[in-house]
Amino acid sequence: MSNNTAVENQKLQQEILVPARSSRKPLDYQQISLFKDVNPLDWEDWHWQLKHRVRNKEDLSQIIKVTPEEEEGIKKATGRLSMAITPYWATLMDAEDATCPIRRQAVPTSFESAVGPHEMTDPCAEDRDSPAAHLVHRYPDRVLLLATDHCAMYCRHCTRRRLVGDHKEDNSASRFDAAIEYIKSNKKIRDVLISGGDPLLMEDEEIESLLKRIREISHVEFLRIGTRIPVTLPQRITEKLTNILKKYSPVWVSIHFNHPKEITKRCKIACDMLVESGVPLGSQTVLLKGINDRPYIMKKLMHELLQIRVRPYYIYQCDPVRGTQHFRTPVAVGINIMEKLRGNTSGYAVPTYVIDGPGGGGKIPVGPNYVLSQAKGKYVLRNYKGKIYTYLE
Ligand SMILES: *Cc1c(COP(=O)(O)O)cnc(C)c1O
Ligand code: SF4
Repeated sequence: MSNNTAVENQKLQQEILVPARSSRKPLDYQQISLFKDVNPLDWEDWHWQLKHRVRNKEDLSQIIKVTPEEEEGIKKATGRLSMAITPYWATLMDAEDATCPIRRQAVPTSFESAVGPHEMTDPCAEDRDSPAAHLVHRYPDRVLLLATDHCAMYCRHCTRRRLVGDHKEDNSASRFDAAIEYIKSNKKIRDVLISGGDPLLMEDEEIESLLKRIREISHVEFLRIGTRIPVTLPQRITEKLTNILKKYSPVWVSIHFNHPKEITKRCKIACDMLVESGVPLGSQTVLLKGINDRPYIMKKLMHELLQIRVRPYYIYQCDPVRGTQHFRTPVAVGINIMEKLRGNTSGYAVPTYVIDGPGGGGKIPVGPNYVLSQAKGKYVLRNYKGKIYTYLE
């Protein structure tokens, strides 16, 4: 890495720390007692990272000062969406501050036991719209393929918490047979989104086999992968993997990013490797109370994303999934964030804010209203500063 990049990264990290609540730099892993003797080659090995995920209170206590709410949350988070924190992610958590945005996304709390009003197990009704195992078909021309239930880290706000977790799953290639047949026989499907769980957690051979099978279907034009791996386990982005993605190009990748602190030097390396293999990157962000619900944090995140060549794609209203009430903001908070972005920063830094219509409505864009009135041949509009303009047709 050039000196310049090192200096820039240092600057980037310092900038990130200015507005964030917790003001601690990411630690070197050697500073954490649990990992101090780890060989750097092991640290860079994604299988090692996975195997050494922090899964209990005893290990977590060697990294952060566990609060009573966290302790209770960990006890209750068994089975689906249990606690699993990669050693890499652990180095980003603030040991003292339980409001640290990195920590809150990873460490369960007792608040997850509360079921808020209107909360559901499957708010987007994905199970209902499933014509074949692992497949959700909601829009006319595209499908969602849920390739695995496993993730590197389990996010406490996960929408698919009914599915994801480290339970045993069928990992035979044949589990996708019905889904592949369905796509094959439905010529309208031109777009396949591979998500999960986290598809990049599958082994290289499995990923290759799946991409190959989908690419063989001639009417599928657009192939994309939804993942959080570059953020939670950047070591997984290896040259072997990027070569596979290149082989089945064009493959687009959407990455789940929620906070500027997630954009570390290591994460940037992973994104650079993807981009340099010809993979266009987009971001998906979940609006989370106390984590990224302030316009300046969201703007900073979008700016940092552009700098690592990730195009902001969606901001999601946090779905009404059971046990996530403590993460959900009013919709007005999201609309206000969009108001503060549009016009005030590069258009490329402005994603679309969407609500996934509860009950299976799909993604519905919401945002500030710029059309004040519309009559025959006349639109009265306001710009980002609130000034009024008339457009005559
Ligand atoms: C999000 C989603 C898609 C993809 O939607 P885009 O707006 O094209 O990104 C497709 N199918 C389902 C079921 C989805 O939830
Ligand atoms: S990476 Fe995605 S699927 Fe996995 S736990 Fe996080 S939000 Fe859920």
